[in-house]
Amino acid sequence: MKILVINAGSSSIKYQLMDLEDVHHCTLLASGLVEKIGEPVGRVNHKIYVDGQERKFVEEEPLPTHHEGMSRVVALLTDPDKGVIRDAAEVQGVGHRVLSCGEVYTDTVRVDAKVKATIREFFPLGPLHNPPNLMGIDVAEEFFPNAPQVAVFDTAFHQTMPPKAFLYAVPYEWYTKYRLRKYGFHGTSHKFIAQETAEFLGKPLAQTNLISIHLGNGCSMAAIRGGKCVDTTMGVTPLEGLMMGTRSGDIDPAALEYVMDQTGMDIHQMVNALNKKSGLKGVCGVNDMREVVEAAAAGNAQAETALQMFCYRIQKYIGAYLAVVPALDAIVFTAGIGQNSAPVRERICAGLEHLGLRLDLAKNAARSDDPRAIQQAGAPIQILVLPTNEELQIALETKQIIDGP
Ligand code: ADP
Repeated sequence: MKILVINAGSSSIKYQLMDLEDVHHCTLLASGLVEKIGEPVGRVNHKIYVDGQERKFVEEEPLPTHHEGMSRVVALLTDPDKGVIRDAAEVQGVGHRVLSCGEVYTDTVRVDAKVKATIREFFPLGPLHNPPNLMGIDVAEEFFPNAPQVAVFDTAFHQTMPPKAFLYAVPYEWYTKYRLRKYGFHGTSHKFIAQETAEFLGKPLAQTNLISIHLGNGCSMAAIRGGKCVDTTMGVTPLEGLMMGTRSGDIDPAALEYVMDQTGMDIHQMVNALNKKSGLKGVCGVNDMREVVEAAAAGNAQAETALQMFCYRIQKYIGAYLAVVPALDAIVFTAGIGQNSAPVRERICAGLEHLGLRLDLAKNAARSDDPRAIQQAGAPIQILVLPTNEELQIALETKQIIDGP
């Protein structure tokens, strides 16, 4: 079944076209990124995969709205030279990444007018993502009128958290009136990782206990008991929890008032600074983990401090989640940093031997793109590195919705 996966941002559309039967039978046909929508010159990076070969095409032209962006995607996918299908009607389903649906949906749903209204209802809780996500659905409906549109929510996997984990200790009506609570994000990735962990360990998902550690530009962890999320680090927005590339993660909320008083910043400037100018970038000036590791190795003290802070926060959450996930099978590293940065994994595991985390340094240092275990022989808790694939998870869930129960 040919499924198009779409992640629409405020000025971008990320896409992947896959032909898949199940997690083991999936062929990536094409992928790409439309960017700079609304700017004077837009750009499309389009790739196709034919007979094991990747071919790249780059186009630049004005793309005033997402409509023109999607129109280029369809034109490229069906182009005799640059495409992989003859007609847009070959696309049998479109899966959309949607940021937030609050408590309304606990799973993936087929898009209808009610679902769209719900996505709109949650604009205030996902102001940067939900509006473009809905725009992506609107333009996909236009260009693929006969394909079911499916919404996969980034918050859905975390809906199994109990109130003691998701409530903030604030006036209760902030929850009942304004829906303020911890929602968590990266849900599609944590769910995929939970399933991959169960498969790697050869256990049923319902008996698999893990701590999933997603370290990309955004970073989050999920405590997963019996395959279900019981706690996660991100909150009502993706700002809470771990230190990230440019986000602060946890901070004393009263610090905001203090710094605003000192600098004259308003609340919007303050939240922008916490989202875009903090984290690794705020502490040492760069947000790409490769550069931070290199700078620290070259003796840059600020980069070293940033790296220590990044890893220490993860260590603290591992400790916390060990307390809420009994009989832990594994901690699992994933995403750009988690999959690729041996020094970061080494620093995180160092000093946690007393908790059962015993890293094998040689296995950790060996480069590989395959799922792998990197703990010492006989260690009580496995340390895994598993590649995440949010697009594949979205495509699989889209297919499931189309196939029916
Ligand atoms: P996103 O969250 O945007 O999907 P990724 O999962 O691709 O991002 O992760 C991006 C992060 O991964 C960047 O901080 C980048 O520096 C880091 N990264 C990628 N490769 C490496 C590597 N070999 N060593 C350290 N960090 C890496």
